[in-house]
Amino acid sequence: MSSMRALSLDESRVTGGFWADKMDLVAGEMLDHQWKALNDEVAGAEKSHAVENFRIAAGEASGEFKGTVFQDSDMAKWIEAASYSLSHHPDPELERRVDEAIRLITKAQAPDGYVNTYFTVAAPGKRWLDLAWGHELYCAGHLIEAAVAHNASTGKSSLLEVARRYADCIDRAFGPAPGQIRGVCGHPEIELALFRLARATGEVRYRDLAVFFVEERGRDPAAFDGKQPLGASASAPWPETSGSYGFVIPKTKWFERDYMQNHAPVRLQPDATGHAVRAVYLYSAMADEYAATGDEGLLRALRALWDSAVSRRMYITGGIGSQAHGERFTTDFDLPSDTAYAETCASIGLALWAARMTEAEGDSRYADVFERALYNGILSGVSLDGTRYFYVNPLETIPTAIACRHDHEHVEAARVEWFGCSCCPPNIARLVASLPGYLYATGEDGLRVDHYAESRVEARLGGALVRLAQRTDYPWSGKIELAIECEREVSFALRLRIPDWSRSWACLVNGAPLDRAAVIRGYLEIRRLWKSGDRVELALDVRPRLLRADSRIPELAGKLAVQRGPLVYCAEEIDNGSGLHALSIDSAAELEEEPALDLPTGCVRVFARGYRDSVPAGEAASGRGPYYPAGNEALARERVRIALVPYHLWGNREPGQEMRVWLRGF
Ligand SMILES: [Zn+2]
Repeated sequence: MSSMRALSLDESRVTGGFWADKMDLVAGEMLDHQWKALNDEVAGAEKSHAVENFRIAAGEASGEFKGTVFQDSDMAKWIEAASYSLSHHPDPELERRVDEAIRLITKAQAPDGYVNTYFTVAAPGKRWLDLAWGHELYCAGHLIEAAVAHNASTGKSSLLEVARRYADCIDRAFGPAPGQIRGVCGHPEIELALFRLARATGEVRYRDLAVFFVEERGRDPAAFDGKQPLGASASAPWPETSGSYGFVIPKTKWFERDYMQNHAPVRLQPDATGHAVRAVYLYSAMADEYAATGDEGLLRALRALWDSAVSRRMYITGGIGSQAHGERFTTDFDLPSDTAYAETCASIGLALWAARMTEAEGDSRYADVFERALYNGILSGVSLDGTRYFYVNPLETIPTAIACRHDHEHVEAARVEWFGCSCCPPNIARLVASLPGYLYATGEDGLRVDHYAESRVEARLGGALVRLAQRTDYPWSGKIELAIECEREVSFALRLRIPDWSRSWACLVNGAPLDRAAVIRGYLEIRRLWKSGDRVELALDVRPRLLRADSRIPELAGKLAVQRGPLVYCAEEIDNGSGLHALSIDSAAELEEEPALDLPTGCVRVFARGYRDSVPAGEAASGRGPYYPAGNEALARERVRIALVPYHLWGNREPGQEMRVWLRGF
């Protein structure tokens, strides 16, 4: 087990550059917009009713519960995001809103600690009766995560006390003892939340309960078989009755045992399967259990699941879960671009799991995947102004197909202000606002830099206080400067991640090439006696490159994608005209780049040389079908310069147009 631990938001700060802009966006527009959406104050957006549900449950308003059965989790994730944000962006108005939300939650809490507005308002007396679909423990998990973040960021214990009372309530209800419920939630989340609560409070009961929930999953694979949502009538058609929870659960094979990862005990699950968000939240909890217990059997299971999820079932954007029906994994190398689901939350969950695997193994491949998801499939989920969102992140869009095809019903051609089921927007906010906590890790013998961002970190190494300042224009530039200050000379290892995409790198210490250096598990290790004023300069190779896909992915045969540094690129209609499928890249020609002045500061546009197929004279409207003798293709194409922009920025300049990541290549 790696002895390194990630640093807290107190110890690590983003001080400028790309991520400071994103964190400013969260602190400003995003949290404000989301609070208004949760309060149904965004005109034209889908109604949330999340805050109103708490007002009703608290006895301060009358009316019916509205929204999905897990609506409470949106408010919890917003509080978690706001709490992280307050730790680096003090804001009295935001703090007042957070306190108001916590006041309502506290008032909605039952005397025995239970908090859930659906089961309090809409289904009283039905507590814990629908573990398959009721999402009670899922919502509890998000409430607990919010409480831990709120306490750590603000020092206040108001929400933590609520969460502890609720965790105690759950601890009394669930477990292996006689009279307790021996079961798990259909949607994993409570497990990783209880591990967090145990670390924050030192209370071992919470850790034991988390272990119980992880180990219990799959022990009874039939536990959820045939379970209808609470209140559904056995004689009524399933999809209609399940609408009482605010979402429809089709009775198809894609919603069976593996959908909830309950098909086998977790150590015997060789493949990443089922609902993608559920899967990666469960795997994150397994990694937490490994961190708590050191159980090698769990680590072996996690490595197998990682190989399945990442090596065989992940999009180049870090998206996972390729099928809309069931929001789930399908099979190896089944990664369609246009009907991709790739939910924003699933990529966020993948990043959360990757961060835990980085801590477990200290191997850069996990941080590489964190970075791939972060800069591509996660950031694509939010507009540049922070007020519009994608739930689904396809790698190719044709607006006419989205408008007309049943199998594209889940795809939006443009980001929207809110969703009836709005799990993704506050999830992006909480990840971005907590990003400083993912940049560095420290241990007795060193400091590890997992991610590059303009930032400062403080750590105690070899008994001395060490400060490190990172300056960089990453991800636009691969140049990174690290300045070290320490209270006395001290020996430790500085480990710098060499990303998988960097074909070469160079490193200077105080202006001189390293005399002794080694790359160990993907990290350049510099071990020396450090003193104040020491400078490290790392140059990574961010030049754009062409990537091809594993030949076992049918969808991507003969296609190429462009990546520059950690950023996957795409072609947009606004730059290249419509009919992007007619473009092909000449792989023998050099890729070129230019500053993209119409995109955020620092952004680079990449150009590829290639062709556009055209319709030869006489081929239109022959009345005999759109097929012609082959052989004159060379005459029917023109040379073009294909403009590409970072995938996460697509749809910001002219929403609702064509976009494509993978282009034909030769
Ligand atoms: Zn989501």
